[in-house]
Amino acid sequence: MALLKLEIITAERIVYSAEDVEKVVIPGVEGELTVLPRHAPLMTMIQPGILRIGRGGQEEELAIHGGFIEVRENKVTILADAAERAEEIDVERAEAARRRAQERMAQRRMDDIEWAMAQAALRRALARLKLVERARRRRGR
Ligand code: ATP
Repeated sequence: MALLKLEIITAERIVYSAEDVEKVVIPGVEGELTVLPRHAPLMTMIQPGILRIGRGGQEEELAIHGGFIEVRENKVTILADAAERAEEIDVERAEAARRRAQERMAQRRMDDIEWAMAQAALRRALARLKLVERARRRRGR
């Protein structure tokens, strides 16, 4: 059976690299996008959210914070603004980031850019917290 090569890269590091991936489900700008082997060539933007990787019959999840995906000849390359596995996430830091963003958004004197930045920070924090919560629930199963 054909498999996918998957690379998830940020400016700082290689987050994920494997050659035996069965499926990648990404939060795309136009909704959830499933990439299986022999997918047609594709380039699109990623929304902040949770990315799912099917490998060896198991599913792994990562928080991903925007970026870009290219699919070509069973190779999936993701250039992400940031990405983390659940076990890499510092929950206190994400909680603090969520509180900070919410406090900023509660202030009325804010221009559109400040608002958009606070909203983006809030989304990143919520994606991190959601991933940790999902990982906890999976372990509890
Ligand atoms: P903060 O305000 O806490 O810095 P942020 O959302 O602004 O959060 P990013 O700019 O998205 O942070 O990420 C900067 C770097 O820090 C990236 O490498 C990212 O993976 C990492 N990072 C951010 N928040 C966390 C976290 N809660 N746990 C682990 N790594 C994190």
